[in-house]
Amino acid sequence: MKSLRQAISKSSIPAMRVVRADLALSLGLRQPLSLTDLTRFFEQPETRHLSANLDADALHGATEFIMRSDGTYTFRGHLNATGFPSFAFRVQASVHCAAGIVIVVETRGRVFGSDTPGPDHREWNEDGASDAIRTFWPALRLDPKLATDLEKNLSGITGALVDVALTVVKTYVAAQFSGIVGAVIVLGGELGAATGVTFSNPKLLAGVTVASGVLLVFGPGAIIPALAAGSAVALLAGVQFRPMNDAEIALAFQVFKGTLPVERILITNLYNPTNTDNGFLAREFTMPGIADGKILVNMGENFEHTLEPDVQQNVRGAAYQAGGQVLIHELMHAWQIHHATFLPGLLCQALTSANYKYDEAKVNQHASWSQSFDLEGQAAIIDKWFGANRNALDSFSSFNDPRFFYVSQHIRTGRT
Ligand SMILES: [Zn+2]
Repeated sequence: MKSLRQAISKSSIPAMRVVRADLALSLGLRQPLSLTDLTRFFEQPETRHLSANLDADALHGATEFIMRSDGTYTFRGHLNATGFPSFAFRVQASVHCAAGIVIVVETRGRVFGSDTPGPDHREWNEDGASDAIRTFWPALRLDPKLATDLEKNLSGITGALVDVALTVVKTYVAAQFSGIVGAVIVLGGELGAATGVTFSNPKLLAGVTVASGVLLVFGPGAIIPALAAGSAVALLAGVQFRPMNDAEIALAFQVFKGTLPVERILITNLYNPTNTDNGFLAREFTMPGIADGKILVNMGENFEHTLEPDVQQNVRGAAYQAGGQVLIHELMHAWQIHHATFLPGLLCQALTSANYKYDEAKVNQHASWSQSFDLEGQAAIIDKWFGANRNALDSFSSFNDPRFFYVSQHIRTGRT
């Protein structure tokens, strides 16, 4: 039997690194999670097979949409004219999943009834591949539903140019109206130039899905259960996100100078629910997003207090008292994601309590950054330097702080 790691590397989530107990929930597997189930899950390419009947007066048939975790799909079906009249028809199939990802594909044709000589039967069979299906697979695989729209008696459509833009806009608007659409993926030869285009809803964060009452945030390398701060119920609509604001950018510049990928960063109110010895913690985390190269800096309860002292001091103590210190800690992870060659999903170990310790002796020796400290240790070194020197980052005592060595030699040069 192949190892789990081998299986993961060949799966639709090849960079998956976070293997946790709650992965069973994320992937819709049985709990408690067994290694066999997990290995099998990653080993087998997944397929979702959806079908529906197509019926109208004197026009009958069926359609199927099959999608696979490797991004390939098949759209096929048939229609028969069963009576007197002939039809020009259009079939639009759309797949909706719980996370608000919509796939739309369509075909057009003509069938002849007994009123006109010509074939009374028409079949279509379209195979294709879409990066978007692979990208959004973690969402698409959860409870997808097929909806169809059959229009008949269209005048003058055979051979005519399909109004692609209209089709897409109509679908997109209808989908938005339903409230939870994150992206619309347009597929198929019939949709011409729009094929392969994915329209994202600017009001919803891409890569967040709902399963068993929690949000699942997925990126290229991890699926992390989360909730949104400020909303009593975990709903996609409760997820808030925004680019960094001017004050945050100005603060970050004092630490990172020009090496933080500010334009890639989205600040969100998501958090990972965590129970600690001191009680419930809305734990911040940072991970690469699924779309447009974004990095999600998930600030939870600190979302509206990014420049202030930590609002969760009652749970994790006074380790993050300096204004903006939690933000700087999370931005360090964004920096790591940007400058490193791998894509981790990071649940902050350091932020679970005030007791997190990196190796101070090694800091004092200016030991190797990459070999002596893990990602959490690196982030802690920088946020602690920031916290201790918050009001005078460019002072002599700040530069003399042993931790500043890493700020100057690594953070501000972009060297991991
Ligand atoms: Zn951290």
